[in-house]
Amino acid sequence: MTDKTIGRVNRATSPDLELTLGVPVRVLDHGFVRVVDYMGTDDSIVQAARVSYGEGTKTPSDDRSLIRYLMRHHHTTPFEMCEIKLHLKMPIFVARQWVRHRTASINEYSGRYSVMPAEFYVPEIDDIQSQSATNKQGRGAPIDPEAQHIAQGSIHTMAKAAFGTYEFLAGDGKNKMGVSRELARVILPLSAYTEFYWKIDLHNLLHFLRLRMDSHAQMEIRVYAEVVASFVREWCPVAYEAFDHYRLNGETFSQGEMDVLRALVQAREIEEGLKVLDVGLSAREQQEFLAKF
Ligand SMILES: Cc1cc2nc3c(=O)[nH]c(=O)nc-3n(C[C@H](O)[C@H](O)[C@H](O)COP(=O)(O)OP(=O)(O)OC[C@H]3O[C@@H](n4cnc5c(N)ncnc54)[C@H](O)[C@@H]3O)c2cc1C
Repeated sequence: MTDKTIGRVNRATSPDLELTLGVPVRVLDHGFVRVVDYMGTDDSIVQAARVSYGEGTKTPSDDRSLIRYLMRHHHTTPFEMCEIKLHLKMPIFVARQWVRHRTASINEYSGRYSVMPAEFYVPEIDDIQSQSATNKQGRGAPIDPEAQHIAQGSIHTMAKAAFGTYEFLAGDGKNKMGVSRELARVILPLSAYTEFYWKIDLHNLLHFLRLRMDSHAQMEIRVYAEVVASFVREWCPVAYEAFDHYRLNGETFSQGEMDVLRALVQAREIEEGLKVLDVGLSAREQQEFLAKF
């Protein structure tokens, strides 16, 4: 760094994300997500891609087309040039799903070192539903309202009792056991809250969002993923739009499915359709679409 750059922001910044830096967004009953820091913007994706594709033209619409091309063709490394660091607080059962995403760096609150605060997740009444009959991993129809209230009460009572026992075990005052925190915590429920810092690049974050914003993901992780997605929309709007169009709302087809589609649709009909229906495909996207048939 030269003297001239000291004390001056001399890197790509996202004005929208700057405004939300450090501000926690509330999720579930005691959780939050906040952006601690980030590196890169849409411009950094373009900059990295142009190292491999050469200078070319440089208008904003070219930048957008380039990002969309990269997303469409799974040229993923330019998206890795952007990184974000989040501070998250969530129930342990959500964190267990979260940490399955291995392509991130993580530092978690230590229940060995620090006292676990008596905070636990109690679902809203409307979120207490029956086991799904079709999806073995999911929730199904609502249960009887009286049963919902009883279930909510049980969840609250059991967690509160567990924290009471934890305090009895770990406390070292009168009538407390003075057991080490690392051992006393073993009786805490999965609904207890934990906190961690999480740093991930944009490519792997979008992969995470595709999986965890999906309707098959558990509601309690989906609501976190949706907040994270709102940050990404502010941070890298063009990349997020491309992700939205090609991953979230796009589909891929197997060979068998393509055979059926080819049998049903003639390329000529698609050409006609493209003339009639303006769905915002660029000329290049129209060519690529036709080539599939
Ligand atoms: C709806 C849903 C239900 C799920 N249910 C279950 C379940 O019942 N049981 C269960 O155990 N898990 C379950 N999972 C977790 C799932 O199997 C994945 O572990 C999780 O989604 C992380 O995905 P990932 O490995 O692609 O992500 P990341 O770990 O972030 O990895 C991203 C990509 O990097 C590559 N990669 C990372 N590490 C390696 C490696 N060591 N070797 C090779 N390639 C690597 C892979 O291409 C991978 O896709 C579920 C996930 C979802 C979304």
